[in-house]
Amino acid sequence: MSTTLPPALRPYLTARHHLLWQEADAFAAEYVAPRVARMEAAPGRVERKIAEWMAARGWFGVTVPPAFGGLGAGHVAKTILVHRIARVSAAAAAILQASLIPVGALLRCATHEQKSRWLPRIAGGSLLLSIAVTEPLGGGHIGGIETIAERSGSQWVITGSKIHIGNNHLAGAHLVIARTAQPGVSSSQALTAFMVEADRPGLTVAEHRPALGLHGFSAGRLDLDHVRVPEDHVVGEIGQGLSVAQSGSILSGRPNLAALSLGLHEAVVDTTTSYLKTRPRYGSVLSDLPVIRHRIGQMEAHLRAARVLAYQAVHLLDLGVPCDAELITAKHLGHKWAAEAAQAAMELHGAHGLDGGYVLQRLWRDIQHTYAPAGTGEVQRLRLAETALHEDPIQWSEHVTAQTDWAPDPTPA
Ligand SMILES: Cc1cc2nc3c(=O)[nH]c(=O)nc-3n(C[C@H](O)[C@H](O)[C@H](O)COP(=O)(O)OP(=O)(O)OC[C@H]3O[C@@H](n4cnc5c(N)ncnc54)[C@H](O)[C@@H]3O)c2cc1C
Repeated sequence: MSTTLPPALRPYLTARHHLLWQEADAFAAEYVAPRVARMEAAPGRVERKIAEWMAARGWFGVTVPPAFGGLGAGHVAKTILVHRIARVSAAAAAILQASLIPVGALLRCATHEQKSRWLPRIAGGSLLLSIAVTEPLGGGHIGGIETIAERSGSQWVITGSKIHIGNNHLAGAHLVIARTAQPGVSSSQALTAFMVEADRPGLTVAEHRPALGLHGFSAGRLDLDHVRVPEDHVVGEIGQGLSVAQSGSILSGRPNLAALSLGLHEAVVDTTTSYLKTRPRYGSVLSDLPVIRHRIGQMEAHLRAARVLAYQAVHLLDLGVPCDAELITAKHLGHKWAAEAAQAAMELHGAHGLDGGYVLQRLWRDIQHTYAPAGTGEVQRLRLAETALHEDPIQWSEHVTAQTDWAPDPTPA
């Protein structure tokens, strides 16, 4: 697969980004690719080694400012890492991105003291996080959260269950959103975010259950039974958990999922064109048939558009420009077009696409996993309709001040 920098991304990438791109490609080829077969063969096992190697490179601290030991490289850099690793293993990229969502929430909402306590460990690779929002009944409806946190002296006591929590097995601490107000209080005032260390008594991580795809990545259940945390584990204001969760989903989750879909999309197109160029037919090859060329052309058009959407959105975020609609669009169309490409690729491979040892069936399975997280397609379209109808939904990206050390350096790639 090509590791060349696409010219369409030049406006968004600096020389520093270019180096990171090459570093991510080299890492994916040398460390990730050799483990993919093993991960596929053992879907019941959680992949820890790749997480350790990424942690050792400081990549879980890619957005953490240098003052807290991080790379301070920003959102475009984060997208590069997730995108380039996802081309080789979406499961490995999912491990990275799932921890980067709560890291973003800490950067935006934690106090300086809390950042000093947690961010250096994240940047140093000894602490991975998860964000625990989704619940068995409420699903993606944050206002339906039933997990309760109640005060007990100087502590909070948390009880409830969370499901589909990315990195639930790898995380040393979970950013848990729980209800802290009486019924009837508006969701925008009723929820609070808490950092809950994985070894707190009463916290149980359910056994890993393999999913359709993303083998090696764990996204499962957490049960909290009267888990006690001190007051200084509240992240953001009490009652502002909805803001922590929604800003995390829009500013970190959506671009991360766009990058994951993009990596898968590229792998699908590469795999399919390589196959069609060598599959003999009528004295030539399948890629010479006009009807097949039309389908390849469609895949390529969507891939190019998805790539620009994914990078343009995070570039705007790094610049501090309001860009919620761009982030949402990149996630929504990035998944949709990648899933359509994977389906078309299956059809264009005929029966060969179904071969259990062939890469395409893994890509097809993995892409099904980028629809639900960080807002389903329905949710993205609802938010975009609000934008189109000038209903002025909250612009979370407006709350983020551009960090000077994230701003592009003046050297073009
Ligand atoms: C790979 C993966 C990783 C994940 N990681 C995390 C994580 O780290 N942390 C976390 O908290 N969660 C995580 N999730 C969960 C994810 O956020 C939820 O799956 C998502 O929010 C949707 O919830 P649900 O699956 O329960 O579907 P539901 O919310 O039950 O929705 C079911 C269907 O109804 C539709 N629907 C729901 N509400 C509306 C509405 N108002 N209008 C129209 N249609 C609607 C949905 O679009 C969907 O099609 C992850 C999921 C996956 C697959």
